[in-house]
Amino acid sequence: MEKNLVMIMDINFYNTTRQSLLEKDLYPRLEHGEKSFLVTANPEFVMKSREDAEFKAILQSADYVIPDGIGIVKASNWINDPLKERIPGFELMFDLLEYADKEKLSCYFLGAKEAVNEKAVKEVEKKYPDINIVGRHHGFFDIADKSIAEKIRKANPDLIFVALGMPRQEKWIARHMPEFDKGLFMGVGGSFDTLTGEVKRAPQFWIKLNLEWFYRFLKQPTVRFKRLLKVLEFAVRMRFKRE
Ligand code: UDP
Repeated sequence: MEKNLVMIMDINFYNTTRQSLLEKDLYPRLEHGEKSFLVTANPEFVMKSREDAEFKAILQSADYVIPDGIGIVKASNWINDPLKERIPGFELMFDLLEYADKEKLSCYFLGAKEAVNEKAVKEVEKKYPDINIVGRHHGFFDIADKSIAEKIRKANPDLIFVALGMPRQEKWIARHMPEFDKGLFMGVGGSFDTLTGEVKRAPQFWIKLNLEWFYRFLKQPTVRFKRLLKVLEFAVRMRFKRE
């Protein structure tokens, strides 16, 4: 079946809904043990792909690039090729965990600091007491290290959640996925930190005013300022230059 795609700065986004992606694509592929590479991308990913050719080629070779970030959906509207909806990676991860729990599929958790990784696994086990977690590993290692990939391959997981941050997580997946026989590989960014409460969401007051981004900016001004500029550049390019 031809995929309905929307191209944003040379990256093809899959134009689908969260429900359809799960039911028509991901669940059947998991059922058949088909290997899959899923990227949930926001404007920062697209901007990064402009300066990092390896990362761009990886995004172009992934099985699915999904719009995670309202900026991508807005940009699709500006170019008159609207994406159906934003599909948040954090929520998609829970959809997949729920499915894994129900269908007795095995999961692996790779990434974040050791204590966060351990706590994230405990939180998932608390939420899904019967879930089959076949292993976990923190995210501070050299992505060229083959021994970690080999250890994961031997654990034979159906789902591999990779929380190394962008673009490390996508580079790790692209490099090591060929050695695997099966598995749905998904980069999940800072999800383990959010899952464990390591990174706190803004208080409701800020969220209600749509100022969560500003709250985060105040908490980490140096890191966030650079990111904010990239997102602004993305918006200006997409709105006015169309490239
Ligand atoms: N991380 C990691 N190894 C590294 C660098 C980062 O495991 O070498 C983890 C980090 O601890 C965090 C996650 O990657 O849990 C993503 O962090 P960030 O907030 O930068 O990701 P984003 O969601 O913004 O892509």
